[in-house]
Amino acid sequence: MFQLSAKKLTSSNILIVDDDEISSTLIATILSEVCACFTVSNALDALEYCHKTVPDLMVIDVNMPGMNGLTLCEKIKQNKATEYVSVIFITSNTDEDSQISCWQAGCNDFVPKPVIAQTLVHRVKNQLLSKLRLDAIMKLTFRDSLTGLYNRNYLTQEYPILARQLTRAQQPLGLIIFDIDNFKQYNDTYGHLQGDSCLVRVADAMNEFGRRARDALVRFGGEEFVALLPNASLADTTRLAKQIIQAVFNLSIPHSSSPLGRVTLSAGAVSVQNFDQFVLDEVIEQADINLYDAKLEGKNQVVAS
Ligand code: GH3
Ligand code: MG
Ligand code: MG
Repeated sequence: MFQLSAKKLTSSNILIVDDDEISSTLIATILSEVCACFTVSNALDALEYCHKTVPDLMVIDVNMPGMNGLTLCEKIKQNKATEYVSVIFITSNTDEDSQISCWQAGCNDFVPKPVIAQTLVHRVKNQLLSKLRLDAIMKLTFRDSLTGLYNRNYLTQEYPILARQLTRAQQPLGLIIFDIDNFKQYNDTYGHLQGDSCLVRVADAMNEFGRRARDALVRFGGEEFVALLPNASLADTTRLAKQIIQAVFNLSIPHSSSPLGRVTLSAGAVSVQNFDQFVLDEVIEQADINLYDAKLEGKNQVVAS
């Protein structure tokens, strides 16, 4: 169904985690024909690497001093940001119990030592192709095709999971609805295609903010966007809404039929604390009431409660 070009495979990246430098150099050399490879010598460095850059695939030595490969794999699979990273173990223990431990840790495959180069290359290629297909499906399912932001599907799938996590952690959820001001007139003045470009520019500017790992920006409808801000107080939420409104104002996208002469945003912000307040429709409705007030009060502003 999805055409996957070789270029995509070669633009993947692999992280090799092995305390033995000779072994990791050998694996990197073998796999350099597939795509870019990076090496670290222990599990903690691997976790730090993943925090900054999520690899497509990890080749992990099972036996390492400190945190071993099995624990590292469990941590990778438990973390939302890295749960879909493919993991291939390299292991000298291939008895039944060791194999079961590898599968239980959540690995995708394993390769016995001594490594046979062609076996490693083919197993890695298979995993990377599966990962590329999964990425493509996830993108189609959960991303808006125009702006690249999350779509409404993502919001309805993820929200209940997030609400449960926040309730357990007794943390609030900040939510903002943004709506482009006078956008119908923008389309009427500049045409629908330029309207689309405007949506992309606004979305890109909004996406610069909200850098916490669990923050999410969703294209909720035509020219409406929702920011989900786990563990954000009303003050945090309002501050972010103001920053985004200012950033879009600063884009200075001309809008001759708008009173401010440029494209602007209005926003409604809320922050909810308790589980019984976490019903998505009700949170959205409250934010929408605030958005309506922001429009009434002259647009290009946020109303929060
Ligand atoms: P307000 O300031 O009160 O928000 O007024 P508005 O004109 O922005 O709001 P209204 O809801 O009347 O119009 C929204 C417009 O957004 C109408 C619709 O054509 C446009 N729109 C929705 N989705 C898209 C899209 O994907 N591309 C483009 N170009 N326009 C879109
Ligand atoms: Mg609207
Ligand atoms: Mg609008």
